[in-house]
Amino acid sequence: MWKRLAFLSSFRLASSTSLGDLYKASYSLKFYQLFSTESRDLEDDCHASKIKLPWITFVLGGPGTGKGTQCQRISQTFGFTHLSAGDLLRKEMSSNSKDGKMISALIKEGNIVPSEMTVRLLQEAIKSSQSCKFLIDGFPRCNENRVAFEKIIGVEPLFVLFLDCPEDIMVARVLGRNEGRLDDNLDTVKKRLEVFSNLNLPVINYYYEKGKVQRISALGTVDEVFEKIRPLFSSFSRFQKKEEQKLSN
Ligand code: UDP
Ligand code: MG
Repeated sequence: MWKRLAFLSSFRLASSTSLGDLYKASYSLKFYQLFSTESRDLEDDCHASKIKLPWITFVLGGPGTGKGTQCQRISQTFGFTHLSAGDLLRKEMSSNSKDGKMISALIKEGNIVPSEMTVRLLQEAIKSSQSCKFLIDGFPRCNENRVAFEKIIGVEPLFVLFLDCPEDIMVARVLGRNEGRLDDNLDTVKKRLEVFSNLNLPVINYYYEKGKVQRISALGTVDEVFEKIRPLFSSFSRFQKKEEQKLSN
């Protein structure tokens, strides 16, 4: 089980950071602070890594930019656990509970589900996982989501992968994907695009100001986009190994 850790590092990625230098010295592990009062050895929590905290990357972008597809590729290649906020909500929705009905109504309108619900689902998924490295796909959707995540989970993302794509391509991809989703229709897509620019972009801007955004053009084939993403995570893997070596010395 994973315990609550606060990530107080003054982690900085310059927006223009060259890929190879992504994780250079600006990252400092010494500021990790354990908030848990549990006495159990941290070793139990994150046995895959000697670094006892979850590494979190948010993967953001409008509908149809390929967040889910690219997250699958990243997790297969780099061993991250992929948590799609939308998939967790859809799973909850199919439970037919009172919450399920509310979620379904909000998704159908392209609106954002209350933060406490999404953060609870993410928290449960993180806690029940043995993994240390999470890609959180499609979340935070608004600044209120972000604040709730920081407050409840207590961890900041390492960086934010922003898949950027022109609107007409997003619409064409969503309408062409045919996965039987109740929000993959033209009316809802238009609303989702509005919500994206009004509420989601401010979150991306927030992280951009903090130097944490890595923007990748989502144009091209799945392979082409993944090849643009790959160096970010290769660089992270090298960084992670070094930090683990330091800790085991
Ligand atoms: N959603 C939400 N909060 C989240 C993630 C998703 O409320 O953190 C809802 C919202 O209604 C959104 C829908 O779920 O429009 C679908 O989100 P998903 O990320 O699955 O869509 P994608 O962007 O991948 O097409
Ligand atoms: Mg998705």
